[in-house]
Amino acid sequence: MRVLIIEDEEHIADFLRRGLSFKGYTVDVARTGEAGLDAARDKPPDIVVLDVMLPGMNGFEVCLRLRQGLDPTLPIIMLTAKDATEDKIEGLDAGADDYIAKPFSFDELLARMRAALRRRQPQGREVLRVDDLTLNTAAREAVRDGRSVDLTTREYDLLEFLVRHAGQVVSKEAIFERVWGYTYDIDSDAVKVYISYLRAKLTAGGEPDLIHTVRGIGYVLKESVPVT
Ligand code: CA
Repeated sequence: MRVLIIEDEEHIADFLRRGLSFKGYTVDVARTGEAGLDAARDKPPDIVVLDVMLPGMNGFEVCLRLRQGLDPTLPIIMLTAKDATEDKIEGLDAGADDYIAKPFSFDELLARMRAALRRRQPQGREVLRVDDLTLNTAAREAVRDGRSVDLTTREYDLLEFLVRHAGQVVSKEAIFERVWGYTYDIDSDAVKVYISYLRAKLTAGGEPDLIHTVRGIGYVLKESVPVT
């Protein structure tokens, strides 16, 4: 098990590094959010322990980027000095699995890490559902209301990304990074075009549109609201 600690406070980072190494984890430490994102790309962790208060990019932003850019199922536990409820909500909205206020006990952190790792579903063999849309990730098949939807590789990747983030607004940049796989030369027009292909295929049987445009930001896939 590889754990990535993103924490700027040296004594806490060292304490975690020693404790987790002793428990058998392979530990990487990054001191800034940017360094943490690089480390996660170089050596993909099984779980991340992420401080909220970091110099530069804060922990919430790092959490979003880890989730949207790298691995939507990566377990992330956030640490913060502040015990404010708003922080907790923001952390969970950003996609964190759990949240621990400093000071925390090492045993508590270990217990939360084990719980987060247990909750993680193995990727690649799941059935994902939103409304009447079902994705079989092993077979890379999409079914809408019993109708099989024929998708290209890129369309499928885009749809799986949206379904894994169902109910969350994802930016065109995040979609491009994840689906096209590179971060330079981001082409948000390509995203727009592929979204239109997907929409057409997903509504070809007269079903309601599940992909909603959030103007100026990106897209959210969510259940359709029945018209009454
Ligand atoms: Ca800090």
